[in-house]
Order: sequence, then structure tokens, then C-alpha cells
Amino acid sequence: MAKKSFIPDLGEKIIIPDTSAILTGRIEILSMNCIVPLGVIGEIKHGRMNRVMSHNLNVIKTASPKEEYMALVREASRKTGDLPYLSQTDMEIIAVAKEYFGVVISDDYSLQNVCSEMGIEYHGCGIEAIKESIKWGYLCRGCGAKYESRMESCTICGHRITRYPLRESESRKS
Ligand SMILES: [Zn+2]
Repeated sequence: MAKKSFIPDLGEKIIIPDTSAILTGRIEILSMNCIVPLGVIGEIKHGRMNRVMSHNLNVIKTASPKEEYMALVREASRKTGDLPYLSQTDMEIIAVAKEYFGVVISDDYSLQNVCSEMGIEYHGCGIEAIKESIKWGYLCRGCGAKYESRMESCTICGHRITRYPLRESESRKS
């Protein structure tokens, strides 16, 4: 059964999904218009989309970022203050999107923020959809407080909150 697409019709535009977008199962990763950065492939090899990915690695279009684009991402994220909140993979996603004039699919605030700074189009992938596939924890980078729900800033110290995938042992209700 085809799952309903929840991202807007992007026509012929190249889409660059982040890990959580792919984990929703609603990104057409085998499409000619989809490029999956190698860092994202690496993260998913350890997740539940593993089988889908590994069976289709010869079909999926991948890219690794050129250093000149990574430098642009570092520069922009330093400017916006998002640098400490971006993982290596996050930066790869933005760099690949810049190089290929792609549209980033991600719900991550910092990632979206840097895209905005760099003039890169982005779309959220629907936090409700993500919840079906992956459990996230929310962590304050200032004081280390953990939260169960998404929020803009830490209620204790005011630092920004970043999201991290919970391990199976943390997220399972058994
Ligand atoms: Zn805090």
C-alpha cells in the first residue's frame, strides 16, 4: 500500500532527506530526484530501515560533500550560532543540498536555520510521522537536562535543546 506523501510536491527538484525523514518511510529514496548523503546512509544502516537500504544501495543515489561546501556550512552555522548543534551528518546534508540545489527534508531546527541562512529550500517532514517510526529524546546542551518533548529552550538554563534518537533500550516500553 502506498503511503500518503506528506511533503509538498516538489516537482523535479532534488530532495535531500535527513535520517529522521527517511525513517518515516515516506520519502521515495529510490527516486531519481532523491540524493542521500553518505552520512545518512551510515546512520540508517544501524536503524530499522536497514534492510530496505542495504537491499537497494546500488539504486539509491548518494553523495558525499565537497570540502568547499562543508566550509560554507561551517561558516553559515557559526554565523547563526547553530554550529554546536549540528552533527557531522547534518552538515553533510546541508553541504550536499547547496551543491545540488536540493531541498532539505528535515524537522531539525538548527538544520533548517542554517539552510535559511544559506538560501537553501527546506521542508519539515512532519513530527507526528516521525514519532511513529523513531523515538527522540531532547537534550539541553547547556546543563544536560533531558526532556521528553520538543521545546525551544531549556526551562532550567535557557540554552537550546537538541534532539537525539533514543536507543531501543531507552524507548521500548517493555
Ligand atoms: Zn539547560
